[in-house]
This record gives sequence, structure tokens and C-alpha cells, in this order.
Amino acid sequence: MRRLDDRIYVDPELGDQRSRQLLDTWRIAKSRISQRFGLSAANPVLVVTMHAHTAERYGLAGDSGIAFALPWRHYIVVRWQDGFVDLLAHELMHAQVRDITGYWRYLLQVPTWLDEGIAMQVDDREVYRVNPSIVPPGEIARVQRLTRARQFWSGDGAQNVRNYRAAKAAVARLLEDRSGNIAGLLAWQIGSGD
Ligand SMILES: [Zn+2]
Repeated sequence: MRRLDDRIYVDPELGDQRSRQLLDTWRIAKSRISQRFGLSAANPVLVVTMHAHTAERYGLAGDSGIAFALPWRHYIVVRWQDGFVDLLAHELMHAQVRDITGYWRYLLQVPTWLDEGIAMQVDDREVYRVNPSIVPPGEIARVQRLTRARQFWSGDGAQNVRNYRAAKAAVARLLEDRSGNIAGLLAWQIGSGD
């Protein structure tokens, strides 16, 4: 891995031009989160791979991106793709959520639909576009029962997209009632002791 700065590591094959593009995209992803939700605390280590086999070595099996953490540090591993600001913003938002809740409460108390729904608020990919006000209440209630990863994701790609869209709509509605305050939403959902 080639080090671009103290927190960004890239596959040497990425080259100079794409590395510069990556730094720009990373900045845009960060500012999207701070502009929309005023969050900027999480500062994860970013690892960008070019190939499936290197991706696997860094914990990324099959997916395009993953955010994970050790108690003392956040990591984001993504496979390079052009214009992937949505993916970077999405994964960075998971790190923001973890930063707010703390490591253990994130693992034990944050339901998958809520975590993904929050990440989706900065993920503008066309396939996940949804108008929260026209999603039926039954669909919102359905996704809110998907509290664990194995319930949220299945081998059925179309169902996974449906879950992402419903989670996005559910969280958008909850945030609307809270003036976009993500920390407030998390505290309310998981019964923060603070
Ligand atoms: Zn996610």
C-alpha cells in the first residue's frame, strides 16, 4: 500500500492522477456530511484497493465498500471506482454514527436499518433515490424490524435495494421531526445514557 497521508493508503496501481482524484473526492464526501448534518468528528483510516484479491486481504469481500472499527480507530476500505463520492460519503457516515455512539453501543445497540438509513442520507446514488413522503407506513414498519445485518441483507439484490430505500425513507422522516439532528435521533433510538 502506498501512503498518501497519515490516514489514506492506496493500492500503488492507483497512480498519481487517480490518487489526486481520490483526495478531492474524499474532501467532497466529508464536506457533504458537514454541510448536511454538521458532523465532522470521525476521521477514519481510508484504504483504497484496485482489485478483488487485495480488497479481500483488507476485509472487503464482494462488496464495494465497508466501514469497520476497532475500539480505538475507524477504518474504511473501498474498491476504486470512478466518481465514488456517494460510496465514500456512505461509509464515512457509518464512522460518524460510531463516533457518536461509541464502539460498544454501536455494536450492541444500533439496529442495522437505522445505521444504513443514516448512511443513506448522504448516498445520492440514483438507484436509492426515494421520496420519503410517499413510502407506505407498512414499508417503513417492515424495514424497522430489520435490526440485524443478516435480516437486512440477503442474496436477493432487488430486496437489498428495497431495504436500503425503505431505511433511507424511515430515517429521513425521523430526522425531519428532529431538524436533522443525527446525535439526537441516535440517543432517542438507543436510549442514550448521556
Ligand atoms: Zn452501509
